[in-house]
Amino acid sequence: MEITAELIAQTVAKILSEGETKVGAAGNGIFEDVDSAATAARTAYNEYLGCTMGFRGKVVQAIRDLASDEENLRYMAEQCVEQTGMGNVPDKILKNRYAALKTPGTEELVTGAWSGDDGLTTIELSPFGVIGAITPTTNPTETIINNSISMLAAGNAVVFSPHPRAKAISIWLVSKINEALDAIGAPANLVSMVREPSIEHTNELMAHKEVNMLVATGGPGIVKTVLSSGKKAIGAGAGNPPVVVDETANIEKAAKDIIDGCTFDNNLPCTAEKEVIAVDAIADLLIFNMQKNGALLITDPEILARLQDLVMDGNRPKTEWVGKSAAAILQGLGITPPPGVRCLSMEVDLMHPFVQTELMMPILPVVRARDVDEAIDWAVICEHGNRHTAIMHSTNVNALTKMGKLLQTTIFVKNGPSFSGIGIGGEGYICFTIAGPTGEGLTSASTFTRKRRCVLVGGLSVR
Ligand code: NAD
Repeated sequence: MEITAELIAQTVAKILSEGETKVGAAGNGIFEDVDSAATAARTAYNEYLGCTMGFRGKVVQAIRDLASDEENLRYMAEQCVEQTGMGNVPDKILKNRYAALKTPGTEELVTGAWSGDDGLTTIELSPFGVIGAITPTTNPTETIINNSISMLAAGNAVVFSPHPRAKAISIWLVSKINEALDAIGAPANLVSMVREPSIEHTNELMAHKEVNMLVATGGPGIVKTVLSSGKKAIGAGAGNPPVVVDETANIEKAAKDIIDGCTFDNNLPCTAEKEVIAVDAIADLLIFNMQKNGALLITDPEILARLQDLVMDGNRPKTEWVGKSAAAILQGLGITPPPGVRCLSMEVDLMHPFVQTELMMPILPVVRARDVDEAIDWAVICEHGNRHTAIMHSTNVNALTKMGKLLQTTIFVKNGPSFSGIGIGGEGYICFTIAGPTGEGLTSASTFTRKRRCVLVGGLSVR
């Protein structure tokens, strides 16, 4: 055979591509197809079953160390913003750092017990097996870090299906996690993904025989899909968090908290303030203080209409504007952003699309209600039964109680910014998979377990 330049190039390409395909098998967690990823995850899980709880603690620590490294934090934040075109670097650094350091680990897996004349019975939280986890474009690395720690602390292996737009940074993170786990001698491919995420691959993953549990963090479509899968599924879906402010609130503080929460990562978090319902008596004062905190009030109906045309397509937000800054949106309108602008605000009616739609951009409509009862009723309408997040600024215990009872949200923040509800400046742990539809709440290691009863008859009770 004649050795030509073309033949050499073909041979090199073949060797390289074989090398790539084998990379997953060698343990960097990246696979060319779903079957290989799920099968490798099963092998990893079986091996992990033989590891001690102490070793699981080391696995968690290795992920924490990797993901909280300052250089990695900056890289993840910059790449997420660049690849998805959403959010801002400082807030993403903060979110990833919290995911790395404040996601609970194995300490959460508490054993229950009965002891008595008939012996000793324990209830232990055992792993579910292989989990298929679908992650959103809005928090790509945050969710992978948060889910990996929770799911591996519980003894599972996980195959991620990231949003295609966050593919490259997800591949980077999954490979890095595998590298870190390899360094401590953990089973290969405890965390994995397919190199080319797609809807077809996600569907294949959901149906794969080796996958025992599905976890979807995303919009209503994917939540509905996993819930129809016939497998144990956890759905963490969309929100449209209303903020109610009544006349008993500290209005200056409420305005600052609302703008801080609404502008966090350019309003990407599903928990972030999406619309304000203010009691008439304090609405002007609240809007004045919101302006002092960086809200630009749009009063010209023509600009408002142009803004709606720019960022919405019918009743949906246009993806290209999701997670953009207020300044970028103003520039999109041909308006020079004033210095310090953080969000765009406007007074509108309850049924305005900006109020009723989860926009995920720093556009914050204000609706004026007659009194707190009307404000709460309207908040129920805006939340659409998502049972996700609501915020209230009030010192009236009865009103706070009424709002909590009527909205039935998974997170109810009182007198603080929305992010205090996920443990940033509020008590409690961090979470980026908030399971409202299926009721697990802010997920953590214990969410990804099966309760198993172990019974020893007639002994070991020493009371
Ligand atoms: P999205 O629903 O468009 O995508 C989420 C994930 O599902 C992606 O990985 C995507 O590729 C996949 N996906 C979507 N439709 C699919 C289908 N038909 N078949 C297979 N896979 C499919 O959501 P997004 O824009 O990435 O994220 C924003 C949404 O997620 C918002 O609605 C937000 O409220 C929600 N969210 C919820 C939580 C929570 O914890 N409850 C957290 C973050 C984001």
